[in-house]
Amino acid sequence: MIFQSTRGDEKKLSGAKAIIKGIADDKGLYAPVEIPKLPLLPKDMVGMTYEEVAKKILLAFFDDFTEEEMERCVLGAYSKGFDSAEIAPIVHVGDKAVLELYHGRTAAFKDMALSILPHLLTTALEKEGEKKKICILTATSGDTGKAALEGFADVEGTEIIVFYPEDGVSTVQKRQMITQQGKNVHVYAIRGNFDNAQSGVKEIFNDEKFNLAMEKNNVRLSSANSINIGRLVPQVAYYVFSYVKLIEAGKIKAGDEINIAVPTGNFGNILAGYYAAKMGIPINKFICASNENKVLTDFFNTGKYDIKRDFILTNSPSMDILISSNLERLLFLLSDNDSGEVARLMSALEEENEYKISDGLKDKMSDFYGGYATEEEVKNTIEKVYREYEYLMDTHTAIAYKVYEDYVKESGDERQALIVSTASPYKFSESVAEAIGMESMENPYELLVKLSEETGIAIPEGLMDLDKKEVRHSEVIDVESMKDAVVEALNI
Ligand SMILES: *Cc1c(COP(=O)(O)O)cnc(C)c1O
Repeated sequence: MIFQSTRGDEKKLSGAKAIIKGIADDKGLYAPVEIPKLPLLPKDMVGMTYEEVAKKILLAFFDDFTEEEMERCVLGAYSKGFDSAEIAPIVHVGDKAVLELYHGRTAAFKDMALSILPHLLTTALEKEGEKKKICILTATSGDTGKAALEGFADVEGTEIIVFYPEDGVSTVQKRQMITQQGKNVHVYAIRGNFDNAQSGVKEIFNDEKFNLAMEKNNVRLSSANSINIGRLVPQVAYYVFSYVKLIEAGKIKAGDEINIAVPTGNFGNILAGYYAAKMGIPINKFICASNENKVLTDFFNTGKYDIKRDFILTNSPSMDILISSNLERLLFLLSDNDSGEVARLMSALEEENEYKISDGLKDKMSDFYGGYATEEEVKNTIEKVYREYEYLMDTHTAIAYKVYEDYVKESGDERQALIVSTASPYKFSESVAEAIGMESMENPYELLVKLSEETGIAIPEGLMDLDKKEVRHSEVIDVESMKDAVVEALNI
């Protein structure tokens, strides 16, 4: 499979090259020129392990990797660090299936892709004979940062720099990042929100002079955000895997359609689901669930993407985003790779803070349903599901659950639901504990223990004893100083 920028540069790249580069010179994202078909029918994947399915899906996209190379990447990523043998287990809550993607090291779904990205990247570097040091720049709304730090810590030939919004992440998320160990890790809080961090990083990537200066110092910049295609493709695997698991569990017959509900921020996770459908997984509706930063809900309803609104800090901070980068890849796919049109829409977004798609393009998005939940609704949903089923969800997952219920009320659609669960409830313990009626506590880390006593659910290993770990990164900088921070971190 070959990859091309979403914004007009017609150069075609191999998977390895696209992974190394991260973002195209014309500011576009790399997207597959065509979505590959499933290498095997779902019924023929029954009984396969996560690793086996992931290897097949990854090779379908990255066919410039050999089977042996991909096998090494997949085993390197998933043979350790997960506290569930299934890697991505499905839990049945009432008649809904919940796909738990948070069993990796950092207790959020970002581990699914970020535990394999370093392996894909180092393999790609070997294949391309690239000798420069790779510097991974990452903007995070909380979960990507920690997962990228864990993935890249002490990986030979790489440095990793993470920028997170000072006041835009949960207590646990912040603590996870500032206590990160490793010789090649750098973490900065920025005075700004996630969009500022993401735009800052994109600006660094697109600063030719800066990139040239970096090259002179034998450094090449790349990205661990879902703008990197090496981050997106591994996520397709769990949609295929979960469809196979639903067949195994007797919840569906091979060929039956399902609906998926995804708590959405940067639009990476749900786009991976859409790619899985294009490969051949029968998915009927893509329920795109947002918090009060509901740009996407409005977009699917009106065809207008409009960020002229306040940025709201919510109890689902990993979804506090107005500019959902990966929507660009959906526009590219649905416009039949019309990169000129995508470039026009993206420059309208940059210059006028809004764009409107044509009616023709909007019609092609009828498989998507956009909805949102308020902070209050999030708490009520966590409480209700815990009371009815003794199942504890985090704030992000609760949004998908609630918007799914809205969708069913409106449509009467009774297909099997797959609710995508993106984080352990312990990552957002303050909001979750409050939702189920527990008293707040002075020490947020003691709250984790209390929450565990109350619910009987074990604390994920990566979140234990966070308060006892040494703080190693406490710098706070202005958005304007991000470039300087890169220079300082690399010591050049
Ligand atoms: C990153 C994240 C999301 C949003 O996922 P996108 O791929 O950016 O849409 C949702 N929930 C949690 C917990 C996350 O960390």
